[in-house]
Amino acid sequence: MTTLLIATRNAHKVGEIQAILGANYRCLTLKEFYGAPGVVEDADTFAGNATKKAVELARWLSNMSIDMPHSTRFVLADDSGLEVDALNGAPGVHSARFAALDKSENSPDADNNAKLLRLLKEVPLEQRTARFRCVIALAEINLLSANIRPQLFDGACEGRIQLAASGQGGFGYDPLFVPDGFTQSFAELGEDIKNKLSHRAQALAKLKVYLSMLPI
Ligand code: IMP
Repeated sequence: MTTLLIATRNAHKVGEIQAILGANYRCLTLKEFYGAPGVVEDADTFAGNATKKAVELARWLSNMSIDMPHSTRFVLADDSGLEVDALNGAPGVHSARFAALDKSENSPDADNNAKLLRLLKEVPLEQRTARFRCVIALAEINLLSANIRPQLFDGACEGRIQLAASGQGGFGYDPLFVPDGFTQSFAELGEDIKNKLSHRAQALAKLKVYLSMLPI
């Protein structure tokens, strides 16, 4: 069993990561690590933000003088978002706070989706191409090293933004995003299908291969 600390407070993300990784992995969240620092996601790439989250948390854990629960060896940080071609790649790294870009806090999913539909109002369906991107950073909690260098794994899922939201599943922009080859949104397709083809599933498949090659 490999234990990972998932560097997020997004319960949906943790649920997806645990479901995709399966029963051989135990995913702990920040809730199990009292006092974990909040990390400001101010990099201009997904890789930059994922790296920052993983390194800051791994360093914090490395410096703690308490026993690590469940022999946690790794911090896993997922930074992800939506790129819409008609908006020159926006919302991109600002996906979580798209509707409140001038503020530092995230905006509700409903507000982000409403803003996206508003901006695309005049854009016909065939030009509403988009993709979800995910970069996962895996940092080893190393009590001896101050120089933590995470491994990065990426994934992308191509699709388009439909004219109106549909479906109840998933989170974020799922009610608006129809993956290529399908006619329903991620929110309608359900977690089994989403977790096979999503950006996060692709990045985690690469991470699993990497972990399977490490000495235990
Ligand atoms: P992060 O927590 O900074 O990585 O922000 C990710 C944001 O991107 C989320 O709040 C969502 O708005 C969006 N996002 C990322 N992955 C997904 C997904 O799988 N479905 C829908 N929205 C997503």
